[in-house]
Amino acid sequence: MICDNIKINENGNLEFAGYDTVELAKKYGTPAYIMDENKIREKCRIYKSAMAEFFGGESMPLFASKSLCFKRIYEIMREENMGIDVVSPGELFTAVKAGFPMERAYFHGNNKTDFDIAFAMDNGIGHFVCDNADELEAINAEAGKRGIKQKIIIRLTPGIDPHTHAKISTGKVDSKFGAAIETGQAKELTEIALSKENITLDGFHCHIGSQIFECEPFCDAAKIMVEYISQIKKDMGYEIKILNLGGGMGVRYVESDPEIDYSANIKRIAEFVKAECEKNDITMPTILMEPGRSIVADSGMTLYTVGGCKEIKGFKNYASIDGGMPDNPRYALYQSDYTVITANKADKPCDYECTIAGRCCESGDLIQEGVKIAKPVRGDIIAVLTTGAYNYAMSSNYNAICKPPVIMLDSEKDYVAVRRETFEDLIKCHK
Ligand SMILES: *Cc1c(COP(=O)(O)O)cnc(C)c1O
Repeated sequence: MICDNIKINENGNLEFAGYDTVELAKKYGTPAYIMDENKIREKCRIYKSAMAEFFGGESMPLFASKSLCFKRIYEIMREENMGIDVVSPGELFTAVKAGFPMERAYFHGNNKTDFDIAFAMDNGIGHFVCDNADELEAINAEAGKRGIKQKIIIRLTPGIDPHTHAKISTGKVDSKFGAAIETGQAKELTEIALSKENITLDGFHCHIGSQIFECEPFCDAAKIMVEYISQIKKDMGYEIKILNLGGGMGVRYVESDPEIDYSANIKRIAEFVKAECEKNDITMPTILMEPGRSIVADSGMTLYTVGGCKEIKGFKNYASIDGGMPDNPRYALYQSDYTVITANKADKPCDYECTIAGRCCESGDLIQEGVKIAKPVRGDIIAVLTTGAYNYAMSSNYNAICKPPVIMLDSEKDYVAVRRETFEDLIKCHK
């Protein structure tokens, strides 16, 4: 199996985190997101301990909470002593409601409104990750009104193309995010930041993309960032404290994806960064990373019930499920790979090729095309694996479909972290 929390049990059913998925489907109904809490914590600890050991000092991971956002997740991140990044006032609000210590939060995004900036300061945000000059002015003005000095780091684009999907590649010069080093815009922004009375510039950030399996793109980006830090030290006599290398480490969705040893990767990147700092005569900064997917993706799975199967002679076989793009838009958006299993026939041969179709009135509403699974019939349970990241977080109410619940599984109990939406929820904002 693609992750060590997935097994086939003695009843021939798919087991996840020690729980029979067919029993969970009966208990909670479908569709449902199920999440392995111990796996989430295990991943946090791998990052925490590897970053402390190999980077040292106050280096730490920030959970990229856009990948999975609800109150319970922020409680877990608080308990695991993680930092977080947030990308909107809504994520910030959710974290505050979960009692997350906001001094460990970084506020991202390429358009923070005046409201967002004031709201973040009201709630004691630790750092803004500043994207552009307009935002810098707005942060300085708001901090000035309050008579405070606001800590920021600046987002830079190091000009790296990590060869991942174009829509999740963000580090190139032509990007809506950050200031490019290559064009001199980064330097301009740095100069402005240093001239502002109500801003403390603590460091720089880059995020080159997502679903990256190799260390090289991270090292390539780190090299450019360290050289930039050194240049700023020479030109402006200012040495920054924080270098944030962003998120993006890959996750195994299908058997053909490589296995990834996060700790070993962090070690390699750390050795590289240390050597680069020495070479460029700067003190090793506090290193931050922002893993999202690699913390929560394989901690999640989605369970569906098959409603109907259809064979179109000379074309395809379809199995229709009771969810689809409203709970998982990733295939429709990026043709993302997923492993699909007929959960109540997990011990049967996977010899039936079919396309898993969602229930929306939209031909593109597919979860996966041409997968081989045990032949399903109406009433069977379909499990789509590795849906912990960017599924619940990306879910919508398209076709007025209620969002599924999020069920947490830990060693002692299963419990509801987010309840299933009701029809009343769907109309609660309607006048
Ligand atoms: C999306 C994003 C992340 C998380 O990326 P993953 O691939 O989920 O690890 C981290 N930082 C920033 C700025 C992002 O936009």
